[in-house]
Amino acid sequence: MISFVGEDIAKSVGRGINLSSLDKDFAQRVDLSIVVPCFNEEAVIPVFLTTLIPILQSLELTYELVFINDGSRDKTLDVLLEQKQTYPEIRIINFSRNFGKEAALSAGIDFAQGKALIPIDVDLQDPPELIREMVRIWQEKNVDVVLAKRVDRSKDSFFKRWSANVFYRLNNLISDNRIPENVGDFRLVSRRCVEAIKMMGETQRFMKGVFAWVGFKTQVIEYQRDERQAGKTSFNAWKLWNLALEGITSFSTAPLRVWLYLGLVAWLLSITYGFWIILRTLIFGVDIPGYASMFTAILFLGSTQLIVLGVLGEYIGRIYLESKGRPLYIVEKEY
Ligand code: UDP
Ligand code: MG
Repeated sequence: MISFVGEDIAKSVGRGINLSSLDKDFAQRVDLSIVVPCFNEEAVIPVFLTTLIPILQSLELTYELVFINDGSRDKTLDVLLEQKQTYPEIRIINFSRNFGKEAALSAGIDFAQGKALIPIDVDLQDPPELIREMVRIWQEKNVDVVLAKRVDRSKDSFFKRWSANVFYRLNNLISDNRIPENVGDFRLVSRRCVEAIKMMGETQRFMKGVFAWVGFKTQVIEYQRDERQAGKTSFNAWKLWNLALEGITSFSTAPLRVWLYLGLVAWLLSITYGFWIILRTLIFGVDIPGYASMFTAILFLGSTQLIVLGVLGEYIGRIYLESKGRPLYIVEKEY
C-alpha cells in the first residue's frame, strides 16, 4: 500500500493549494475507492455487498472497499470481518467509538487510496447501479466531481423532505458556499479533489459543505432515492437540526451579522418613538402610561436578545471545540 501519497500532489502556494500536478505514484493507485460509513448495520451489509460487488466487477477497474465501522454496538465488525474472507478487497477502519457520519466520511477520505472515491450509504438508499454511470462520466468527460441528485424523495418522510428543503433554501440564501439541492454525500470525487478536502483544517465537519467548497468541474446525474433495505435510520429530527446548524455556521457568518441591521432598525424606531413621546408630553401633558405597549416592547427586545445570545453561543461553542484541535476520529484498528 502507498503510505501518504497526497504530499506530492497538494503543494502550498502562498496561502493556497496547487493541485495541478499528479503524484508520482498515481498510476499505481487502485482505480476506485468505495467509502462506506457503517453504524449498527449488521443487517444490511451482506445484501449491500451482493448488490455492489457484481456492479464493480462489471466495470473492469481495480477497486477497494473502505468500510468505516463508526463504533457500532451490534455485530457490524464481525459481519465485515466475515465478508472480508470472501472479498479481500474490503478494508475495515474500526473506530474506537461512535464519532458520527461526518467523521466516518473524513476517515474514509483519509484512508482511501483510489484515483477516484465514491462515498455511499450502506443501506442501499444510494443505488449502487449509479456507480456505473458516475465512472463512465468521470472517464469520458474528464470531470472531477459527479454528483448524484435525488429527483424523487417520495420515499422519505414528509418531515424529512420539508426540512431538507427549508435547509437548502436557507443555506443557499445566506451562505457564499452554495450546496446543490437534494444532493447527498453520494458522489464521485477525483483524487485531486480528495486531496483538496484533506487540506481543509476544520474539525467540525459538514461534509456536504466541504465537498461543495472545494469546487472543481462538476457534472450532475439524477436518481430516485429508495427506502432503506434493512435496519433503521440513525438520524432523528434533533440530529438533523444539529446537522443543519453545523452546515450553516460552518460556512456563513450571516446569522451573526444580521443583528447589526435589525438592531439599527430597532434603534431608529425607538429614537423616533422617544422623540414623539417627549413632544406629546410637552404639548398634551402626561397621560396614563401605556402598560401594554411597554410590556410588549420589553418582551420583544428581551427575547430578541436571548436569540442573539443563542446565535453567539452556537458560534462560540464551535470556536471553543475548534480551538482544542482534537482529532476528528480515532482508529482503533485497521483490518
Ligand atoms: N452512519 C455512520 N455514523 C453515524 C450514523 C450513521 O457512519 O453515527 C452511517 C450509516 O451507517 C449509513 C449512513 O451513515 O451508512 C447514513 O445513515 P442513515 O441511513 O441512518 O441516514 P439517513 O439515510 O436516514 O439520512
Ligand atoms: Mg439511510
